Amino acid sequence: MRTKIYKINSDAVDLGRIREAAEIIRNGGLVAFPTETVYGLGADAQNPDASRKIYAAKGRPSDNPLIVHISRFADLRRIAEEVPGEAERLADAFWPGPLTMIVKKNAAVPCETTGGLDTVAVRMPKHPIALALIRESGRLIAAPSANTSGRPSPTLAAHVAADLEGRIPMILDGGEVGIGIESTIIDLTEEIPVILRPGYITEAMLKKAVGTVRTDPGILSADSGIRPKAPGMRYRHYAPKAELVVVDGEREAVIQRINDLTERMQAHGKRVGIIGTDETAAAYRGDVIRSIGSREDEEAIAKHLYRILREFDEDQADIIYSESFATPRMGQAIMNRLLKAAGHQVLSV
Ligand code: AMP
Ligand code: MG
Repeated sequence: MRTKIYKINSDAVDLGRIREAAEIIRNGGLVAFPTETVYGLGADAQNPDASRKIYAAKGRPSDNPLIVHISRFADLRRIAEEVPGEAERLADAFWPGPLTMIVKKNAAVPCETTGGLDTVAVRMPKHPIALALIRESGRLIAAPSANTSGRPSPTLAAHVAADLEGRIPMILDGGEVGIGIESTIIDLTEEIPVILRPGYITEAMLKKAVGTVRTDPGILSADSGIRPKAPGMRYRHYAPKAELVVVDGEREAVIQRINDLTERMQAHGKRVGIIGTDETAAAYRGDVIRSIGSREDEEAIAKHLYRILREFDEDQADIIYSESFATPRMGQAIMNRLLKAAGHQVLSV
């Protein structure tokens, strides 16, 4: 299959191209499109065959449910068995935006879309191209991240093409995404709302909107033995091809340890990659050194993480050492992704 790749200006969305994409969605096909978090791989959420195509294109396990993207709050009522009061307050505060809510589903949502669960994940994205595509299609769009399962989520259309070109009919290229890590997921089907995946919207922000909120203990610690509630959080994910090790501690000690490890690995003929920051990159002696951005700018760190993991694949690094990025606001979300990419290999110095 030939993949059409259309560049679309997010500030002046070309509706002609969007209508062509919307037609594919209505006919049960797949379209990759930008959202403010990462690129999504969209299909008609109420068409079981279309949902199945998403799983096939990504190689995604069929028990890992999809997020349904909507463009109006009223659409939540069309697919939810009941809309809890918290959903209205959270939508007022954060929709359109990077927050996914889990609610009980009704019969309008096929099991193929929810991985067999009786709940459904719903989000109203903020990106103008995503919103235009949902509106023009007249459908609700089921969309996971537009990467091959297990690879880092795409933050550029080129990442989508690298994974899916030839397997899907269309990619809408809206340039680099704004946030760069996936939406925060909050489960509203329990007594107290539970965060199933950390993201740009933090626990503190959610508490302000709805009062008590807790975080799924399954995502807090790798060795707790507690299974994360979101099926997708159980898989090894975002993994670069090389082994990745996070080195955590005071700045000077981390630099020292990474340089020692690098020397040892290079002596064994290994090619070493290093993920540092603008403040530290010059101090390293690896074969390929990449700065994720300034340590003072956590939004840049979140936005660059997946691109940098992908770039190391092209460099054929054998092992990658990364600094730790437990930044003040988004640190939990960033470290959740980085530690998963590292298979939870952490050296504390
Ligand atoms: P992705 O769109 O690729 O970021 O993946 C969607 C994430 O949402 C995965 O981690 C899923 O397991 C999670 N998810 C989707 N629907 C549900 C649901 N009904 N209950 C719990 N987690 C869900
Ligand atoms: Mg994903």
